[in-house]
Amino acid sequence: MNLETIPDKHSLPDAGGHFGPYGGCYVPETLMTCLKELEEAYTKAKKDPEFNQELQRELKEYAGRPTGLYYARNMSEQLGGARIYLKREDLLHTGAHKINNVLGQVLLAKRLGKQRIIAETGAGQHGVATATVCAKFGLDCVIYMGAVDMERQSLNVFRMRLCGAEVIGVETGQKTLKDAVNEAMRDWVSSSRNTHYILGSALGAHPFPMIVRDMHRVIGAEIREQMQALAGRNPDEIVACVGGGSNAIGAFWEFLDHPEVRLVGVEAGGEGIEPGRHAARFEGGKMGVFQGCRTYILQNFDGQIDPTHSVSAGLDYAAIGPEHAFYRDQGRIDYAYATDSDALEGFKMLCRTEGILPALESSHAIAYALKRAPQMRKDQILVINLSGRGDKDVQQVQRVLDKMGETPA
Ligand SMILES: *Cc1c(COP(=O)(O)O)cnc(C)c1O
Repeated sequence: MNLETIPDKHSLPDAGGHFGPYGGCYVPETLMTCLKELEEAYTKAKKDPEFNQELQRELKEYAGRPTGLYYARNMSEQLGGARIYLKREDLLHTGAHKINNVLGQVLLAKRLGKQRIIAETGAGQHGVATATVCAKFGLDCVIYMGAVDMERQSLNVFRMRLCGAEVIGVETGQKTLKDAVNEAMRDWVSSSRNTHYILGSALGAHPFPMIVRDMHRVIGAEIREQMQALAGRNPDEIVACVGGGSNAIGAFWEFLDHPEVRLVGVEAGGEGIEPGRHAARFEGGKMGVFQGCRTYILQNFDGQIDPTHSVSAGLDYAAIGPEHAFYRDQGRIDYAYATDSDALEGFKMLCRTEGILPALESSHAIAYALKRAPQMRKDQILVINLSGRGDKDVQQVQRVLDKMGETPA
């Protein structure tokens, strides 16, 4: 994919970073200078053939692109409906789509002459991808992570440290992802002269939702090309899980102006749609402003952020990317949710039928496919964006299955 040659066919966001009523730039004035500088640098880089060539080279040689589009024959036949294809983002270096964005933003930081990188991380996946790429490019790397998350994800903390990153535990608030974002922002306000902040999803203040989306557009661009080669046409439906929304918007973007392709985002239904028990922002959320942008947020009557829950840490966040809110209003993208137990069913199914261990995040998209594929005709094609691999989740899956008395013997 070349950012230079792909037309900005939807011309969103607008100059102020808005996707209709969503998005924008709700940050303290002190941050506006860095955000403006980043936007200008990105606008220039996007048109620079050298930047595009370097990005393409790194995506190929370091990250492992293009990823395959794999026909899941056993799963398709068992479900007895649509032909199911998996977009194998799980095969990328570090095990998920996140490295697409990190590589792009590190190259951007290099152009800006910034020697220090900071990032937030929840479960640690974005932190690991960031620490990894910083090691490769010899950049100083500081990862902010909630103290509670550090304990839950100690292996990822160790991985980041092996790559030379400093991991700072955040002791404020609930000591989880949103608190880590706050701390990273605080750092950036005072360090932006030599520091670039790599946000991990299609969220936050403009220009982040746009940059992160663009870095993942390669997923959909490849799906389109591969599907043409395999079937000579576009798929009928594409499904992806939605945390902040980066893997989903990356897989969908290429098809937004192809109305024959149905696009479905799957949120985390957790233990059901009760306040505090899920992370399905379109089910239980309202419009509001949170951590830099206007979007759908899980919040209480007073505007305080609700606690969230999901079996998959990567989907466990109170806000959804603003571009998703826009396309939901437009009716262009449909949204569904899968509960924790639906996701576990998806996880088990893919292991058994195809010998592929999906991330628990991606398992939400699989759970949707289990219900949807049998409703589709055998000549129809359903693509699941397999955002990551499940090695990181096997212990948790084992704990949950043990509890349900369902551990495979
Ligand atoms: C982080 C993560 C997600 C959720 O993030 P999005 O920005 O919504 O894509 C999904 N899948 C995997 C494997 C992840 O690591």
